[in-house]
Amino acid sequence: MDRKFDIVIIGSGFGGLMCASVLGKHGFKVALLEMAESYGGNLQNFVRDGLVFNTGLHYIGALEEGQVLNKIFKYLGLMDRVEFEKLDPECFDRIIIADRTYCCASGFENYAQRLLSYFPEEQEAINNYMSLIKDVWAKNPFLNFREIDPNFDYSMSFSNTGLMDAINSITSNEELKAVLLSNNGLYAGVPGRTPFYVHALINCLFIQSAFNVKGGSAHLADAFVSIIKEQGGSVFTGKKVQAIKSKDLKAISALTADGDEFFAEAFYSTIHPAEAIKLFDKGVFRKPFVQRIEKMANTIGSFVLYVTLRKGEFAHIKSNIYYSKSQDVWGAVYKPEEWPKSVMMYTTEDKGLPGFAESATIITFMHYSEVAQWEDKQKRRQDGSYEAFKEERSAGLFAMIEERFKGFKAASASWLSSTPLTYFDYTGSPEGSMYGLAKDYKSGFGSYLPVTTRVSNFFMTGQSVGVHGVMGVAMNSIVAASKLLNINELLKEIEGS
Ligand SMILES: Cc1cc2nc3c(=O)[nH]c(=O)nc-3n(C[C@H](O)[C@H](O)[C@H](O)COP(=O)(O)OP(=O)(O)OC[C@H]3O[C@@H](n4cnc5c(N)ncnc54)[C@H](O)[C@@H]3O)c2cc1C
Repeated sequence: MDRKFDIVIIGSGFGGLMCASVLGKHGFKVALLEMAESYGGNLQNFVRDGLVFNTGLHYIGALEEGQVLNKIFKYLGLMDRVEFEKLDPECFDRIIIADRTYCCASGFENYAQRLLSYFPEEQEAINNYMSLIKDVWAKNPFLNFREIDPNFDYSMSFSNTGLMDAINSITSNEELKAVLLSNNGLYAGVPGRTPFYVHALINCLFIQSAFNVKGGSAHLADAFVSIIKEQGGSVFTGKKVQAIKSKDLKAISALTADGDEFFAEAFYSTIHPAEAIKLFDKGVFRKPFVQRIEKMANTIGSFVLYVTLRKGEFAHIKSNIYYSKSQDVWGAVYKPEEWPKSVMMYTTEDKGLPGFAESATIITFMHYSEVAQWEDKQKRRQDGSYEAFKEERSAGLFAMIEERFKGFKAASASWLSSTPLTYFDYTGSPEGSMYGLAKDYKSGFGSYLPVTTRVSNFFMTGQSVGVHGVMGVAMNSIVAASKLLNINELLKEIEGS
């Protein structure tokens, strides 16, 4: 089989799939190499008890006609092939802090009004908050399809204000702060590290509109793969790239673990940058660059409980739940005895029994250090201690959910759980990190990696480069694709979709 391509892309998560389809649309002959037996990365689903569970994509924002991801998805051809379901616009996110509940309504005006109904004394703070987040969104050239200097520095599109500095500047009301920050699971927030723009972009995205993928996120990956193949591209699974041959700072071929070799004119990596640079011979990248990447912190991993519910026993919740035990909503920063501090939870409706849920997914944070002792798969299976650990942690999560949703445990027919090791195994994410490299406002632009590298035809993208999540990775993919395309023409094409 011919192994010569215009472009080889490593990794078939959203980043790899999007880069492949954008470049394929422009006539490049693309090969996508995925180490796992299934494509999709975090878009993968699994089936248990006949039910589909998402592993890493629960909802998508700004998908309403005219909004940014709608335009991008239309441009990619996804809107015609994938069905999306809108979350309850009156309460797309339901925030529970201790014993109080707050609903987030779709649309900036509705969102602000709803907040005001809970905090009538805080009109000025709420107005200021809305202005601040909208300002971050408005300033982003990619999300607004604004003409930019082709030599732009991507990292300069992000500001380095700290999230807590921004929130503290608008209010001293601790309850309001907790509500504004309660969905920080979406970015694994850490006070003193997380930049304000990450919070602002993600909140603006979901406030515009919130949808999930009907039937599971893998439909997105399936649609992408059909599109890539129709464009003449190739998608290979079971192809772990373990080296890239290069000469005179130009990549030549990608070697896979099964002994295959793929040649191309350009190479895109969507995998974790620390893993990507290891693919090259020592000395290709300068020591300070390698050390800088090695020193960068990863976002925390997750512990997820996937529950099959008994028929007709638990009411479907039409919102995402963000539940924190107290106003300390920073679930990623926990002492062992505090775990789990906060959870994200959603249910899927039993279509045969509307109003009732057939499954629930509950996500909380977990440090890799808690499971590192079982990294060796052999050891993991040996003495049952890993399974016992997972059962103990599942019980902890059930207990927390039961406090607010009485009868949930009794309605649970069966369950299984994933730990950071699961993501480490399935997506190669170091430390099972949820969102890849953490962004740190204190290191200024130091926590951003450039798309271009010393190796003239090797580009890095995916969630660790720039912002994570579908919106972030889409933006990163546009920037990466523009290394071979004209950025302003590309933005115009997408805007016109
Ligand atoms: C629990 C969880 C919930 C989330 N929920 C949401 C959500 O609701 N909304 C949202 O927008 N975002 C969400 N995200 C984030 C979002 O899923 C990710 O930011 C995004 O999917 C990352 O895409 P990616 O292509 O950068 O990386 P990945 O999806 O990690 O893809 C990388 C791919 O590279 C492959 N790979 C790794 N090494 C190699 C190698 N050497 N050779 C070949 N292939 C390799 C991996 O197997 C993987 O398929 C969630 C993430 C998690 C973990």
